[in-house]
Amino acid sequence: MQNPPSLEHLIESLRCLPGVGPKSAQRMAYYLLQRDRDGASELHQALGQALSVVDHCSRCNTFSEQAICPICSQADRDSGTLCVVEMPTDLMMIENTHTYDGLYFVLMGKLSPLDGVGAKEIHLDRLIKRTNDGEVKEVILATNYTVEGEATAHYIHEMLNARGIKTTRIARGMPMGGEIEYVDTGTLAQALMERKGL
Ligand code: ZN
Repeated sequence: MQNPPSLEHLIESLRCLPGVGPKSAQRMAYYLLQRDRDGASELHQALGQALSVVDHCSRCNTFSEQAICPICSQADRDSGTLCVVEMPTDLMMIENTHTYDGLYFVLMGKLSPLDGVGAKEIHLDRLIKRTNDGEVKEVILATNYTVEGEATAHYIHEMLNARGIKTTRIARGMPMGGEIEYVDTGTLAQALMERKGL
């Protein structure tokens, strides 16, 4: 006995979500169709809308509905400093400290060779292009203090130093294994202010 084909298709589609196996995909599909059809309809609309209007900012690579995001569009930011983070959540956390007025580059990930994530997947070619605008004087590496975040910081440090661009690393007010998303804004502000060369 099988589910109807369209339901099977939905279950199969839900499996594109990270960490969702066949059993939980089936549970989600049943839930949406049986218990929360309004929620399902909302999800359908929101996903369609987001897919059609959200893309990456052409300068900092974060998610944006505009070709150039609101932060990159602010004229009063220091265009000589570029802060490299893993994810848009990290950018938002740093913005919330209100201590940084430079610009950003969002990798949308971190180097993770075992998972097949290399330099290309985290857009390092775009980062190089971005730092070649003649304005960037310092690149702050604000990747997480995890093994992969550290490896990513070192890789970018080597890559940019070979091109004559100065890099600094946010200071270790950050706990070992710490992810920026979960650090309080005070610690993060301190780590930014006490950044140093690698
Ligand atoms: Zn931007």
